[in-house]
Amino acid sequence: MAFGKDRDALKKVTSLREAGNASRGRPRGGGGAGGWKRFQDQFKPNTVEPDTVRFLPGEYPYTQIHRDGSTEVLLLPYFVYTEHFDGRTNGSSICSGGAFADYKDKAEPCIGCDLFWENGGKKGGRMSRREMKAFTILNLSTFHEVDQLDYKTGQVKMNDRTNKPYKEWVKCTGRRCDACASGKPTKKGHIQHYSVGFGHFGQIKDYAKMIGKCCKSCGTRNSIDELAYICGNCKDAVIDMSTTHLSNEDIAKMVDGDVVCPHCRTEGLLEEIIQCSSCDNPERAGIFDVDISIKKVAGPEGTNQSTLMFTEFGPVCPVDPAFDVKPMDFEGMFAPTTLEQQAQKFKVPVPAQTPRQPVPASQVARDWNQGGTPPQGPQGGGGGMFNR
Ligand SMILES: [Zn+2]
Ligand SMILES: [Zn+2]
Ligand SMILES: [Zn+2]
Ligand SMILES: [Zn+2]
Repeated sequence: MAFGKDRDALKKVTSLREAGNASRGRPRGGGGAGGWKRFQDQFKPNTVEPDTVRFLPGEYPYTQIHRDGSTEVLLLPYFVYTEHFDGRTNGSSICSGGAFADYKDKAEPCIGCDLFWENGGKKGGRMSRREMKAFTILNLSTFHEVDQLDYKTGQVKMNDRTNKPYKEWVKCTGRRCDACASGKPTKKGHIQHYSVGFGHFGQIKDYAKMIGKCCKSCGTRNSIDELAYICGNCKDAVIDMSTTHLSNEDIAKMVDGDVVCPHCRTEGLLEEIIQCSSCDNPERAGIFDVDISIKKVAGPEGTNQSTLMFTEFGPVCPVDPAFDVKPMDFEGMFAPTTLEQQAQKFKVPVPAQTPRQPVPASQVARDWNQGGTPPQGPQGGGGGMFNR
């Protein structure tokens, strides 16, 4: 898409620690009509049996807004988008507010955001606004090819051109599986997409830390230790693990976000110096380097606050080459919903389009300095609104 040409020049982020810190802000905008495809091939963790899956890293452009108002486009392994849900009409949309959606006067037009702000921008109002991160996963379970059903009517969906039903792959339910009984085509492993909100993303990030005790170079488990965390600018140690008096909790908090360096006053994510007890080329394994068994534990009755549970992870290895896998096209699948479609879903008129001036970074910086930015900005509010 827009960044295609210069993509090679963009900084590629693969660690969830780095990526999670960068995407605390707001997602970028896009164009075009969004995808019904997102209702297909969706991974939903099971509450009984864990699925064994492999997360596949993609390279999705993400516009990070720095504190000084400047922007930087990074390539993240997952796709960031914002979802609106209207409690009155039950309509949902993909936010069209763009990278500056949090800045009321700089955002691209979005009816979802307008309705969200109209109700005070609080949760519990008519319109919700939830930041999501979409991963591509290879689900290593058994799948069957079956006729596709219309998710609204429950009827078989027919292709008018071929007069044959559309097909889709669904997971084998094991015991008493209808598709097994009727001898439907079967395969092992299927590509799915998996969108998580703030809470579940945090749990995945936490688990990635456990996997990160494992060395990617030599494959040894629990062999990685941190020696120090240094400033990315002056390279001086900010936390020396052999002498620090900080608690493990404080260290974990510091290394997950931006820190002001006590030596040179530069603010940024600290770089880590690690060692491996079994080899000379220490490298942390990550969420994309192992197969993971994952299930979901339902929250208290009447709530939808579930918790992810990771039951085990396999040895460090590349994806089985028998699978021809590539990350999904999320830029198409989660493209912003058009204003016309939003108006239809939320049963409101299409707002009169006021032409907007492109906002130069210098302008944003000026607003920051004058304190003109609302506290719900990505840096100011600490992303608190996503703490559902
Ligand atoms: Zn919006
Ligand atoms: Zn089956
Ligand atoms: Zn420094
Ligand atoms: Zn090693």
